[in-house]
Amino acid sequence: EGKKSLNFIEQIIEEDLQKDYKKEDLKFRFPPEPNGYLHIGHASSICLNFGLGERYDAPVNLRFDDTNPTKEEQEYVDAIKRDVEWLGFKWAKECYASDYFQQLYDWAVEMIKNGDAYVDSQTSEEIAEQKGTPTKPGIESPYRNRSVEENLDLFEKMKNGDTPERGHVLRAKIDMTAANMLMRDPVMYRCLHKNHHRTGDNWKIYPMYDWAHGQSDFIEQVSHSFCTLEFLPHRELYNWFIEKVSKPGDFEPKQREFARRNLSHTIVSKRKLLQLVEKGYVDSWDDPRMPTISGLRRRGYTPESIRKFADSIGVGKRENLIDVSHLEFCAREDLNKIAPRVMGVLDPVKLVITNYPEGEEEWLDAENNPEDESAGSRKVPFSRELYIEREDFKESANRKFFRLTLGKEVRLKNAYIIKGEDVVKDDEGKITEIHCTYDPKSKSGSGTEESLRKVKGTLHWVSVKHAIEAEIRLYDRLFTEETPDGVKDKEYLDFVNPESLKIVTGYLEPSLKDSKEQDKVQFQRIGYFCVDRDSTSAKPVFNRTVTLRDSWAK
Ligand code: ATP
Ligand code: MG
Ligand code: MG
Repeated sequence: EGKKSLNFIEQIIEEDLQKDYKKEDLKFRFPPEPNGYLHIGHASSICLNFGLGERYDAPVNLRFDDTNPTKEEQEYVDAIKRDVEWLGFKWAKECYASDYFQQLYDWAVEMIKNGDAYVDSQTSEEIAEQKGTPTKPGIESPYRNRSVEENLDLFEKMKNGDTPERGHVLRAKIDMTAANMLMRDPVMYRCLHKNHHRTGDNWKIYPMYDWAHGQSDFIEQVSHSFCTLEFLPHRELYNWFIEKVSKPGDFEPKQREFARRNLSHTIVSKRKLLQLVEKGYVDSWDDPRMPTISGLRRRGYTPESIRKFADSIGVGKRENLIDVSHLEFCAREDLNKIAPRVMGVLDPVKLVITNYPEGEEEWLDAENNPEDESAGSRKVPFSRELYIEREDFKESANRKFFRLTLGKEVRLKNAYIIKGEDVVKDDEGKITEIHCTYDPKSKSGSGTEESLRKVKGTLHWVSVKHAIEAEIRLYDRLFTEETPDGVKDKEYLDFVNPESLKIVTGYLEPSLKDSKEQDKVQFQRIGYFCVDRDSTSAKPVFNRTVTLRDSWAK
């Protein structure tokens, strides 16, 4: 009752528990390669694995799949840890595939001795040519039947760096006619004379993904190793390798697959996101336009909104495209509950209240959050000269315009009812001042008959004298195309939105003077904003997280 039904991953686990698994056997892992920052697609995998950990009270390891030193860096390891923690998850153990290099090597030596692996001295091109096609069997390497002694000798030389980088590889000896192409003597090791961010220059050979991943799962005794669908054909090889290194009775991990999650109007591939950074389309990995966890954080997303997003799209068996408006919806829903309401004017025009005494000011009560009584209230200064949004005034307008016009009344939020009287224009006819009168008896919350009078519109405003200036960064979608990397004869870089960032000066109520990095607010009637890390008290900087409404909706 009221319980949500099990997804297919949970069903797999429930079935295993009913068969031969004990609850204590359950163990999961999240296995990022530290070759970039985590993105919103990874959030799905994180929420899946750590969510299962929470559900079954089982450990979840954070495993760095660090087997390719040409692309991996400590900076990425640190960023990944920070992001997983920020999302609110705790890993049981911090693990590295590189910690298993010696064990993997020892196993490989055993495999050579058992006739299950051999050193191939062909070029990678020759090896590729012999792979065959799904309908044509492959051709066996001329080195396939080297003696064990020769293999052991060459493999040791490879390990010691006594052979050139592209000279040899170690291959599993399986079946060059296998229907599954991945079973046609896959490469286990390549020579790479590169410095590794953890093992330094200790190793001159590095294991391939297929050889490292399942064995890492086995070493850690992970029960269910979840990966994305493109690894489905790898499952047979995963099992083959595990069988080679395990003994009868050992607990063997199983690989199961789920569908990758894609998000519209963006890219979820570390390789392509790196291009955006390197080519200068964005400023950094945590640029608020990036779909990275760190970019979303800087943009003003909360961990709760990202978890909610991941949980609400759930896990599936088929790849699909999630509209970015759903992510934005999750941000609004969460920020609506927690973000204090404040007033800020982003495109100001001056409003002069001609019957308000000159030189006077008063501090009015303003409720911080109508969704949260405990948020309390604050004071905002009111005076004779205010800023309002330029678009909130029209000299003459039709009856559907519920903002300020000449001769009509509107309410100023938390303040008084005003009536438009006159305008002042410059030589080009641009309005420089709007003159109005106010009704002194109409103060919000005063309980007078006048204050209860219904008027059609309510405007936000700030007092000119008290306003603080801030840099406001208005972010929009990074790509104009729904699937930027799915358009024929084009590449994703062709669709970068030239208007993904617009910077304006905003005038904000003075309560925002002491805002701190990551503080989140709602500028009333405009959107949700978050204080950027570039912010200083001399020059506050706010990022627009999301507008109040979905302005892209048709
Ligand atoms: P990228 O192409 O961005 O590098 P990846 O899959 O190679 O993605 P990994 O670091 O290997 O990146 O990913 C760690 C885990 O996150 C893997 O289990 C992977 O399957 C999962 N993952 C990555 N991208 C997505 C996505 N878009 N949706 C769901 N899971 C994903
Ligand atoms: Mg990967
Ligand atoms: Mg990758």
